Amino acid sequence: MIIDCHTHINCPGCDISTEDHFAASEPVDACIVLACPSESNRQSSEIVARYAAKHPKKMFGFAVVNPVKDDISKKYWSGILDDLNLKGAVLYCAGEGFHPAHSRALQFYEVAQDLKLPLFFHNALPFTADSVLEYARPSLLDEIAQKFKGLKIVIGSMGLPFVNETICMLAKHENVFGDLTVNPQKVWEVYNTVLVAHEADVLGRLFFGSGLPFGKPQNCIETLLGFNKLFADTNLPTVPREKIREIIERDSLAILGIEHA
Ligand SMILES: [Zn+2]
Repeated sequence: MIIDCHTHINCPGCDISTEDHFAASEPVDACIVLACPSESNRQSSEIVARYAAKHPKKMFGFAVVNPVKDDISKKYWSGILDDLNLKGAVLYCAGEGFHPAHSRALQFYEVAQDLKLPLFFHNALPFTADSVLEYARPSLLDEIAQKFKGLKIVIGSMGLPFVNETICMLAKHENVFGDLTVNPQKVWEVYNTVLVAHEADVLGRLFFGSGLPFGKPQNCIETLLGFNKLFADTNLPTVPREKIREIIERDSLAILGIEHA
C-alpha cells in the first residue's frame, strides 16, 4: 500500500483539475488532499470535501484552518468531521502569519485532540515575501507536542529549510511525524534529508508525500528508490533500500487514526 500524505487540488498556483489529480495519483492507493487558505477557509475545505466524497476509498480531505480568524469551536469541528467527512486539519502558519502557539491556536489544538483530528503543518517552500519565516520553524511545535500528547502532528515537507529541527522533533516526540515530500529535481537535498533522518534513526517516523501537483508521486517514488545508485561509485554513506521502501509503503492514514479500506 502506498499513501501520498501531501497533495492539493486548489492551492494558489495549482493548475490542476480534479480529473488530472485523480489521474496523477494512479500509482498510489490513497491520498491526503490538503485544502488551501482562501478568503473563506470553509469554502476551500468544502471544495476538497466534495472531491473526497466522489472517491471515498482513495481521497481523504483535510480542512484548512487559521485559528486566529476561523471558528475553532468543538461544535464547528464536529461538523467538519461528520457533515463534510474531512479527516484532519491543515495549518499554514508562515503563509498566514500566525504563531503556531498563538493562544487561539492552542484552544484549537485542545479541540483537535478531543476529536482525534490529526494536524498537518504546511509551512513549506516557496515562501512569499509576506510570509513569516520564523513561524515555519518546527521547533515552535515543541511546546504543542509536549502539551497535547494525544495530538498527531505531521511536519510538512520535513520542515524545509529547517530539516535538522524536524529531525530533532521526530526523535523527541512520539506524536510527531515527518512528511517526506521531496523535489525530484533536487537529488542532493533528497539525499541529505533521508541520510540525516537515517543517522538519527527516525526513518520509521517518515511518511511518503509528493506535493502533487508540484511533484508527481511516480517521480518521487523513483527518486527515493534511485538516489543511492547515483552515489554508488562514491564513498558517501547510503541508506538501505528496504528502509526507503518502508517509508513509501507506510500506512500513514492508519498511524494518524484515519480508517480506510
Ligand atoms: Zn503543499
